[in-house]
Amino acid sequence: MSWQPVDCHAQTVFSDGALTIEQVIERAAELNVVPSVADHISHDVARAVDSVEAARRYIAALEQYDVLRGGEFCWHDSLWRELPEELVARFTHRIGSLHAVRLASGDHVHAFSRRPPSIAVEDYMWAHLESLETLAREMPVDIVAHPTLVTLAFRKLPIDELWTEEREERFVEALFAADIAFEISNRYPPHERLVKRAVDRGVRVSLGSDGHTLEQVAAIAAPLAMARRLGVRDEDIYDPRRHGSRTRAPA
Ligand SMILES: [Zn+2]
Repeated sequence: MSWQPVDCHAQTVFSDGALTIEQVIERAAELNVVPSVADHISHDVARAVDSVEAARRYIAALEQYDVLRGGEFCWHDSLWRELPEELVARFTHRIGSLHAVRLASGDHVHAFSRRPPSIAVEDYMWAHLESLETLAREMPVDIVAHPTLVTLAFRKLPIDELWTEEREERFVEALFAADIAFEISNRYPPHERLVKRAVDRGVRVSLGSDGHTLEQVAAIAAPLAMARRLGVRDEDIYDPRRHGSRTRAPA
């Protein structure tokens, strides 16, 4: 069978998505994409798999289908630390997200907060980097989701104001050292310069629709085109079946 890309990041009705598992599988088949489900597993997302017991039910449901079993965990939340080993081993891949950035004060700035943050963009971006570095050090995940997502108030600022060379270098180094893949998100597309830096350093890339609806799920043509433009070979794009998982005992 010819190579097919994997959409490592799609949500269903188990969290804040609109589709059932069957519908995700069907849609991916239409687009010639390998499906996976990666719902929010967190205490801090409004509609999420929000307890160890719920995570157990979620994985048991996914195991009924021919679908890759992922999960998107908030770094700033504690639930990922609470899952027992035997449950972790049933995921094919796990995704870590910076849905909030931790400030030196211990306060958090949420990515989707409507309140303007109380700090300047410079300070926010350093806190973003330090949070990412901590995520990479401590979180057992295979992929970091939408790594360039910043809080709403700063989202429209010019790339060069957000991402200096030093910040990009440290960012890429943290992912490389931890062997975590960089998600090229269709929903929050990263700027190509940063992805190129990651690829050149030897960081693996992963494709993610971050899809919640029929139009979005498995829509990974743009991320795939970016990976190919940067010279990544198809078979080197993250596929849990081929590359395994840091968090899963070998079969
Ligand atoms: Zn997310």
